[in-house]
Amino acid sequence: MFVGIAAPGCRSDFARMPPQNPLPRSENPMTVMQCSACFFPYDEAKGLPDEGIPPGTKWEDIPDDWVCPDCGTPKHLFIEYTP
Ligand SMILES: [Zn+2]
Repeated sequence: MFVGIAAPGCRSDFARMPPQNPLPRSENPMTVMQCSACFFPYDEAKGLPDEGIPPGTKWEDIPDDWVCPDCGTPKHLFIEYTP
């Protein structure tokens, strides 16, 4: 006797099922840091090629004397960007 997975509804219920919305969580381990003064974002995935920082550079690998290219805020005053 086969008792499988219960079929979800059998009439109009099917159309009202909520859409599956899986959020990829670990797909992008790169961090975005943001200037606490001017909100300039530093995206590890993009780096700052104009500043000589190649894409993929981790935040901790950026020199401690690095400052915000927009407003000069020191690195240690950047905060982790959380959407
Ligand atoms: Zn700034």
